Amino acid sequence: MTDFSSKDRDLQTRIVQPEDRITPGFESFAVPVARASTVVFPDLATMRSLVWSDDSRWRYGLHGTPTTIALAQRLAAIEGGEHALLQPSGLAAISNVYFGLVKAGDHVLIPDNAYSPNREHADWLASDFGLEVTYYDPMTGAGIADSIRPNTKLIWLEAPGSVTMEVQDVPAIVAAARARGIVTAIDNTYSAGLAFKPFEHGVDISVQALTKYQSGGSDILMGAAITRDIELHKKLKRARMRLGVGVSADDASLVLRSLPSMKLRYEAHDRSALALARWLKTRPEIAAVLHPALEDCPGHAFFERDFAGGAGGLFSIVFDARYSAARIDAFVEALELFAIGWSWGGAHSLAMPYNVRSMRTASQWPHEGVLVRLYIGLEDEADLRADIEAALGKALA
Ligand SMILES: *Cc1c(COP(=O)(O)O)cnc(C)c1O
Repeated sequence: MTDFSSKDRDLQTRIVQPEDRITPGFESFAVPVARASTVVFPDLATMRSLVWSDDSRWRYGLHGTPTTIALAQRLAAIEGGEHALLQPSGLAAISNVYFGLVKAGDHVLIPDNAYSPNREHADWLASDFGLEVTYYDPMTGAGIADSIRPNTKLIWLEAPGSVTMEVQDVPAIVAAARARGIVTAIDNTYSAGLAFKPFEHGVDISVQALTKYQSGGSDILMGAAITRDIELHKKLKRARMRLGVGVSADDASLVLRSLPSMKLRYEAHDRSALALARWLKTRPEIAAVLHPALEDCPGHAFFERDFAGGAGGLFSIVFDARYSAARIDAFVEALELFAIGWSWGGAHSLAMPYNVRSMRTASQWPHEGVLVRLYIGLEDEADLRADIEAALGKALA
């Protein structure tokens, strides 16, 4: 214990600058929460020797502390990457990719099933900042070559799409991009970096919404942009520095706390979700079950080829076209164990209806019926099945 009574300096000074700021010899499993705006240097020579691009040391709280750097390193390792930049949300990580890599006059390709706020962001950059944006059929594969222009600088991928679940032919798209020196970025949130390893397939940047499985608690917003290439990392890092965003050590420590259980949670979500998807496939009310491990899902063969470790808890069902949108709304509201809400990756099951036709501009959506996205949480699978069965009976009988 510090003795606050025995020093020469005033008590106020001793409270602000106690001598035991760091407890020697104390160790625990938790990464300490290193909160900082100011980072203190031992001398001016050290301060002057620091370069902003050095990830192993810190200069200012916004750009990293031992807590956030520990999280970034673990995320890079999960994904098979080398570097990770934390962002205050998944969408901020997407934004970081744009601001780091493209400028007015450049062309960007985005799959038609992309996470909607990515589209919103790209459309804004197109309308107000001179970016050229084209949406492409997510199932185009090697056909992407036909959409590439001389000024194409970035191709987004998302596999599976997080509402309609198409699994892209990632290697075919990457090959076309590489042949022309175009950077590829994948929104890899669906697989949490566990089931799909983008760098093994030649993708340059992997974006994660850590808000989902990495947090696991439906209580944190955070994102990451992960790379192997140091020059790409530095470009993204420079943009992040200029935009003035960072993450709090408290939030980072909560994600660090959840990471060790992520794979086991993902597997548990996957087991229940796959069992429920198979059962839903037998139901007469359902026209298609869009789960990457089932044949109804476009790109199922690519899932079998490129993924290892399951699909987690997220999939969608398409109802028979004889049910109106109002009846499907009634079904969603009749569910007792599935909450109505955005996001996913936590312990609680969720359901959300979508009007997919209104979300597409570059590809035909083949289904007439309403799509409901289900997120299967960690509740007992039989209870979830009974809940869905009861809601089907109540709303659609
Ligand atoms: C949730 C999500 C994001 C964005 O994450 P936020 O932290 O909510 O901004 C990005 N991509 C996908 C596929 C997501 O599901």
